[in-house]
Amino acid sequence: MITGTTKLLGVIGHPVEHSLSPVMHNAAIAQLGLDYIYLPFPIKPENLEVAIAGLAAIDVVGFSVTIPHKQAIIPLLAEISPIAQAIGAVNTVTRHNNQWVGTNTDIEGFISPLQTTYQQDWSQKTAVILGNGGAARAVVAGCYQLGFAEIHVIGRNPQRLKEFQHSWESSPIADNLQVHPWDNLAKLIPEANLLVNTTPIGMYPHVDESPVSVEEMANLQTGAIAYDLIYIPQPTKFLQYAQQQGAIAIDGLEMLVQQGVAALKIWLQRETLPVDVMRQALRQHLGLENRG
Ligand code: NAP
Repeated sequence: MITGTTKLLGVIGHPVEHSLSPVMHNAAIAQLGLDYIYLPFPIKPENLEVAIAGLAAIDVVGFSVTIPHKQAIIPLLAEISPIAQAIGAVNTVTRHNNQWVGTNTDIEGFISPLQTTYQQDWSQKTAVILGNGGAARAVVAGCYQLGFAEIHVIGRNPQRLKEFQHSWESSPIADNLQVHPWDNLAKLIPEANLLVNTTPIGMYPHVDESPVSVEEMANLQTGAIAYDLIYIPQPTKFLQYAQQQGAIAIDGLEMLVQQGVAALKIWLQRETLPVDVMRQALRQHLGLENRG
């Protein structure tokens, strides 16, 4: 029940209508019986600064940040975490000592299944990452945090790929990072212990597409991990092809859940959350309820 004491959380974005965050966070809040609500706030880019001041004025406890504000919000915050600084994007903001503080929980979300279910020594391992957009930045930082010996990023646009590489120059990550044109994909696949798709290729409704062909995937090592950031469909063609090769498949749903869990822990200042309830709420909302 919403009362005069209900505390506010939310997500800012434009558009924000399709955000899955309210579903997952409100399910957790209800399960915990807390006097909070998590709302979508559609904020146009030109209104970002005034909106942030407004959110402070109405005592919002914290909020998620989605497209197109993840970079633009940085100069409007009093402080950002080293992780958000490294990625160059903020997805979680919290009120601390009357100031907005930003961080990025996408890394935590991405590495979560690699640190738990599939945990191993990554120090001799090679990660191959397809795409060089926003999500790829969290994946690169996550692979570095896990200790991967080599991190290879493959992109289709030479200019953007070059900018991507330059953006890491002042970071220790640069020592482990190499970028490649898409033509190098076939050569890199056999070297991959972890192959990550951060492109939108294969995302609903283009469910028959894959960034890697069956022929290219045939050279993936048995026992390698294929990780698709896409969560609809489940599995994507990319993951189907990889599984046919004997690879382990991880879809993007757990990343989505775990980046939300990490954010809610910050806002509520609590270590334990009903993660199963959050995951189940998302699965139900996405129509994945009765599937494996
Ligand atoms: P983004 O910033 O737009 O980056 C997309 C990247 O994919 C860019 O490097 C782009 O290349 C590349 N790309 C797009 N179409 C391509 C094609 N046909 N061939 C080759 N490369 C192509 O998007 P993003 O925010 O990183 O998101 C990427 C994907 O990750 C989306 O599917 C998103 O839903 C998913 N995601 C999932 C989670 C999760 O929690 N599971 C979190 C974040 C993102 P150019 O630079 O050349 O355009």
